[in-house]
Amino acid sequence: MMHVEVWGGAGEHGRSCYWIGNAQSSVMLDCGVKREGVGEYPLLDASRVAALDAVFLSHAHEDHSIAIPWLYKLGYTGVVWTTRITAEQLPSYHSNWGNYVRQQGGELPYEESHLASVRYAFIEESAPAQQWFAISPTLRVCWGRSGHMLGSIWLMIELEGKRFFYSGDYSEDSILLGTDTPRLSDQGITIDGAIIDAAYSTDMDEQETKLEHLYKEADCVMNAKSLLLLPVPVSGRGQELLLLMEQRYPETPIRVERELIDSMKLMLGHPSWLKGGMAARLAEALSRSRYTIISTDAERERLLQEDIACSRAAIWFTTDGMMQSLKAQRYYDVLRHHPNNGILITGHVAKGTFAWRLLALPDPESGCRIRATRYKIHQGLPDVRRMLQSMRSNFKLLVHAPKRDTDALLQQLEKEGEQDLLSLQPGARIVL
Ligand SMILES: [Zn+2]
Ligand SMILES: [Zn+2]
Repeated sequence: MMHVEVWGGAGEHGRSCYWIGNAQSSVMLDCGVKREGVGEYPLLDASRVAALDAVFLSHAHEDHSIAIPWLYKLGYTGVVWTTRITAEQLPSYHSNWGNYVRQQGGELPYEESHLASVRYAFIEESAPAQQWFAISPTLRVCWGRSGHMLGSIWLMIELEGKRFFYSGDYSEDSILLGTDTPRLSDQGITIDGAIIDAAYSTDMDEQETKLEHLYKEADCVMNAKSLLLLPVPVSGRGQELLLLMEQRYPETPIRVERELIDSMKLMLGHPSWLKGGMAARLAEALSRSRYTIISTDAERERLLQEDIACSRAAIWFTTDGMMQSLKAQRYYDVLRHHPNNGILITGHVAKGTFAWRLLALPDPESGCRIRATRYKIHQGLPDVRRMLQSMRSNFKLLVHAPKRDTDALLQQLEKEGEQDLLSLQPGARIVL
């Protein structure tokens, strides 16, 4: 009898980790962490880790990748199937996580030697997207680009004849990244189970609506000839927002920290992950020196003071979406002295982080406009609905959002006639 077990990532945002198997064969999908306190890790069952036939990693983000070295401490000796560019991005996520844990006074559950012993196998070098290939006599896999970040993939796994779809973190809304829409009802096949990114739960908005909100907020700050700060992760929505902002505000200076430009160059270096025509668009944006690149603290201070002294509108990009770093908080120290300045949060903020605390303050207390408006890199209600309509599956597990939000989404979709949906929490087991 085959089981699917949630070891993390359903009914919560973080530590994505799913175990699929039986007594003979088993695989793991992702093994991430949750950025709360000293870090929360998946509910790994040590006795089953060493027996895994394969581990798959959908993308480099910490909530999917960081606990993988722990598997090697627990005795896993196989490979981690992922993409080459995902593996290349992992060291910076690991050092970032290590710093965070130390800052919180915590400890990693594994040592440096376990991190060094992780072995990767590159899925895109074994078969092209949308094509099945065999890893062992009982395990076959098919992958495609999931449009969520550079190198991110969805997976279809066939283990002892049972088929499972894992969307990873999925979006068809990126302006830069390509997505291979999974063929989920190939030849009328009903699959045995699906794990589906539903991170935005009942949020109804399409990307277009999100952008209207975002522009409206940015317009307020620009019209008041003030400073707008966009804190974004090093790689991901930041590069898209850079292109969108330069298009929307062609006359406004844009100041960008070097790491964001480096990530843009990294994307340009991997055109097979981009939508058609987007490599040229990136190359053009980089070559026109449209952006003022900030490399040092001194440069940042000088230019910030200059923008303020000249009372000019300017858009600033910094590399920490939740504003946990001293650098990100330094911007706030400068911006908070004028109520027309704005900080626009465009992604997930974990409870207790600096950005989360700022968003809870009313304007007079925060000193400037702090607003949150999402730029979509996951699925909301309309996206999940479309994905469900394209598949036949014995169960459809909705993941990547708090339990209460997932329950609300499930109820809404059931009202619309969808069946076999699941909203679960870590520790849950599905018996097939
Ligand atoms: Zn992600
Ligand atoms: Zn995620």
